Amino acid sequence: GPRQTKQPPQIKICLVGDMAVGKTSLAHVFLQQPFKEHYQATVGGVVMARTLENPVVTCQVWDTAGMERYRALLPHYMRHARCAVIIYDCSNRETFDSVKNYWLDFVESCGEEGLVKILVGNKMDVAEKVRAVNIQEGELLAQSRDMPYIETSAKFGLNVDDLFILADKRVSWHQ
Ligand code: GDP
Ligand code: MG
Repeated sequence: GPRQTKQPPQIKICLVGDMAVGKTSLAHVFLQQPFKEHYQATVGGVVMARTLENPVVTCQVWDTAGMERYRALLPHYMRHARCAVIIYDCSNRETFDSVKNYWLDFVESCGEEGLVKILVGNKMDVAEKVRAVNIQEGELLAQSRDMPYIETSAKFGLNVDDLFILADKRVSWHQ
């Protein structure tokens, strides 16, 4: 018969949020690539995958490709996604406001049945005086839209694996 290699199940996870909140950085750190201090806008579609061991599942991470600006492409990008990770930057109030005013509604409008949402406050490493959104605000927003909240630092690798493990768990519960 035909040769078959057993592939682990794959889940598609989309990273969304304003420019420079750290989408690409979180994806790179999760994929165990080095963190980059200098900002480089993502160009072209980028899909990366890492297989988690327990349970075995391949996380297919979709990074936005300048879609913060070309919003018409977003519904296409979200097709068949099982999880949307909605990211803001803890040191930039505007990025939190646009989660409230745009990203949540967008994800809910074009996400498919049973889409799991996770709210992420990235750059939790920033100094207290630079912080523009506190933990309580993030938690409240997440509660109000029935999704979990997690703070991360791509820079120091804090909670990054936990974020994707959480995504995987939530997706499995919804199956
Ligand atoms: P994207 O546009 O959402 O993909 O954002 P990037 O991942 O390209 O990151 C934008 C900028 O923020 C870059 O200069 C990164 O070095 C920086 N950055 C990303 N994550 C963190 C973080 O957790 N902490 C800090 N301090 N800076 C970060
Ligand atoms: Mg990027």
